[in-house]
Amino acid sequence: MKAIRFHDVGGPDVLQFQEVEMPTPEAGQVRIKLHAIGVNYIDIYHRTGLYKLPLPAIPGQEGAGIVDAVGANVTDFHIGDRVAFVLDAPSYAEYTVVPTVRLVQIPDDVSFQQAAAALLQGLTAHYLCFSTYPLKQDEWCLIHAAAGGAGQLTVQMAKIAGARVIGTVSTQEKARVAQDAGCDEVILYTQTDFVPEVKRITNNKGLPVVYDSVGKDTFQGSLECLAPRGYMVSWGNASGPVPPLDPRELMRKGSLYLTRPTLGHYIATRQELDWRAADLFRWLAVGRLRVRIDRTFALQDAAEAHRYIESRASMGKILIEP
Ligand code: NDP
Repeated sequence: MKAIRFHDVGGPDVLQFQEVEMPTPEAGQVRIKLHAIGVNYIDIYHRTGLYKLPLPAIPGQEGAGIVDAVGANVTDFHIGDRVAFVLDAPSYAEYTVVPTVRLVQIPDDVSFQQAAAALLQGLTAHYLCFSTYPLKQDEWCLIHAAAGGAGQLTVQMAKIAGARVIGTVSTQEKARVAQDAGCDEVILYTQTDFVPEVKRITNNKGLPVVYDSVGKDTFQGSLECLAPRGYMVSWGNASGPVPPLDPRELMRKGSLYLTRPTLGHYIATRQELDWRAADLFRWLAVGRLRVRIDRTFALQDAAEAHRYIESRASMGKILIEP
């Protein structure tokens, strides 16, 4: 089968389109013929070595397709099932082998493209807004990079939870996308310091929570935006990793809470994965949640997909179709 592989970490050019061996499912696994592959910022972290993978590696953490082989002891998934998965299986390939604990059935009214576009970022948005810091009716929150793939879904999820949302974005065009996703206020953080803007919007009260996926460039400002006992949810590093922090800073800034969550710990059980995925697919099917697919690339053009997302030009989900 064909796949994208990298033998060394580095720039997009390390991604090579190669013939690799067809994988065979072991006990508790299924093989999927992939129809749509989700590109996520974590794929960049793996490629650059910010997060380590054993090499050579096939990148990708998300995909949707049809089960074409099942391993021993698999009873809840069958050949021909339409499924999607996140984490623990490489996806930039024609086929992949996935442990069933990471697999969900796709409802008939959701396409492979929608499933691969929504699952990883949608499950993330769900745990951020309903578990890490469960948002309450009418309270303000700040969501950075609100026009990004995960950003748009987090904004929509926060609105479903009843919150009021301040989004940050880098351009006017992205501001329109963030508004369209449901932001009540949008700040162009490349032109305006977001800290005084947040203070103005909240009448100097500050926020109960900031969802910060930008990392290095926004972390300190995000802390400044919080009300006493507020929650700093640092969930990504698109601008680079956050430097080490003295816990006394959290005391000085108002007995703040800091968490650095990741999806795997929030879909730790079958029940938790099914709960989040069911909400996600139901809201997608009835149009309560929209996933904006920005661009789709061919498998051999994966390096181009990485260049595009790193260029900061994308406004929504990037897909690969094998
Ligand atoms: P996006 O499509 O949102 O792209 C990243 C966005 O970050 C850009 O669009 C850009 O928005 C913003 N950004 C700010 N500074 C930079 C920079 N220096 N270089 C590039 N982008 C920058 O990607 P994803 O939706 O895939 O992921 C968004 C973030 O969410 C990532 O940090 C990712 O790691 C994190 N994430 C975390 C998960 C978790 O469980 N912890 C799960 C899923 C995603 P703008 O131009 O408006 O600033």
